[in-house]
Amino acid sequence: MSESKKFILQERDIPTAWYNIIPSMPVKPEPMLHPGTMKPLQPEDLYPIFAEELSRQELNVTDSWIEIPEEVRDMYKIWRPTPLVRARGLEKALDTPARIYFKNESVSPVGSHKLNSAIPQAYFCKKQGITNITTETGAGQWGAAMSLAARHFGLELAVYMVKVSYNQKPYRRSIMQTYGAEVIASPSMSTRAGRKIITDHPNYQGSLGTAISEAVELATSTPNCRYVLGSVLNHVALHQTVIGLEAEKQMAMAGDYPDIVIGCFGGGSNFSGISFPFLRHNFSGERHTRFIAAEPESCPKLTRGKFHYDFGDEAGYTPLIPMLTLGHNFSPANIHAGGLRYHGAGAVVSQLKKDGLIDAVDIPQLETFSAATLFARSEGIIPAPESSHAIAAAIREALRAKEEGTSKVILFNLSGHGLIDMTAYDSYIAGDLTNHTITQEEIDRNTADLPGK
Ligand SMILES: *Cc1c(COP(=O)(O)O)cnc(C)c1O
Repeated sequence: MSESKKFILQERDIPTAWYNIIPSMPVKPEPMLHPGTMKPLQPEDLYPIFAEELSRQELNVTDSWIEIPEEVRDMYKIWRPTPLVRARGLEKALDTPARIYFKNESVSPVGSHKLNSAIPQAYFCKKQGITNITTETGAGQWGAAMSLAARHFGLELAVYMVKVSYNQKPYRRSIMQTYGAEVIASPSMSTRAGRKIITDHPNYQGSLGTAISEAVELATSTPNCRYVLGSVLNHVALHQTVIGLEAEKQMAMAGDYPDIVIGCFGGGSNFSGISFPFLRHNFSGERHTRFIAAEPESCPKLTRGKFHYDFGDEAGYTPLIPMLTLGHNFSPANIHAGGLRYHGAGAVVSQLKKDGLIDAVDIPQLETFSAATLFARSEGIIPAPESSHAIAAAIREALRAKEEGTSKVILFNLSGHGLIDMTAYDSYIAGDLTNHTITQEEIDRNTADLPGK
């Protein structure tokens, strides 16, 4: 542990602009479609749901760089730039010739990368004069980040929290309440979407798709209220590129450049954040880095999903997104990596995967906890169950390098710490955790009648 080496930047090195990958993509994603007219979406179509500036960012396919407002950079300074760490302890434990680095996003006040996008989303809502916001949360990471950001900018926030996590992770609920947010277990009786699913399936433990429907419904039926989302969308990936932009400078300080970049994958925000700034050097032909998104075996949209238009939520309130999907009604197993239990992947990542520009792996739950334990013992940080998927993928690559006798440079994103997820570790230690896989029949059934073409 003591041998690990940190690469530290100064406040002035916090990026001044976010990187928008879309203008440089060899094949751009198909347009999102309006769910009513089935026509390509215009920014105005999103104004009832999202703040206007965020709607414009969402559909911006021309500007590669989007300036970060000073108020947002000032908030970033609370914990950014985050450290890049050479994981010598882990290298030694694996006895690998690979050089392993991780970007430590767990040092934010809420313990994850989610704050990188929560702050600008709250800022642009506030700037437009919006007073109330709604959102959903799975494991509670996004809800916690949004609660802090909403408090800072003086916005009222209601969070729909997936019921299984509401019960499994009570401390994330307390964190949100401490920051002053209202937290509602989803499905709830407070919305039409929630009432319908409770009536149809009384014991339903919730999903991100259902929680999104509830939050969108409340936002669109409440005056001066908008909805904010913590993953999947282009503007969220955009905000997260501060991770990779900083890491690029820090890898240069270390005198290395990654052969492999890895991020765990829920809807794609932290994977996009660490990857896109490096991916642009692949597009220009200067570099040939491999990118690996690590998803759970129980929710394998990138490795086994169908490329099709689908809704972002369960009830079908959102625009149609061209995505790799398991179907918007997919109800994943109750694994502990709650932040990865989402049915689809963002449009950009889906297109990149389709075009073979990034890779994906799916990882069984027990392997992720074994990787997490090794990481905790060799690097001292207890990782979030979500982040452990990236660690497990990095370990696979480091062991492959050892087998092949090659010295690969591996960079992964540590998206968050697991100090509020100790119930999950308890179950692992007690031997109560199992792997969850899904059959091809289940996938076929769930993706049989997707909306749109
Ligand atoms: C939410 C979350 C994820 C998954 O979301 P992405 O948008 O795919 O990044 C991963 N890790 C942590 C710690 C999270 O909170």
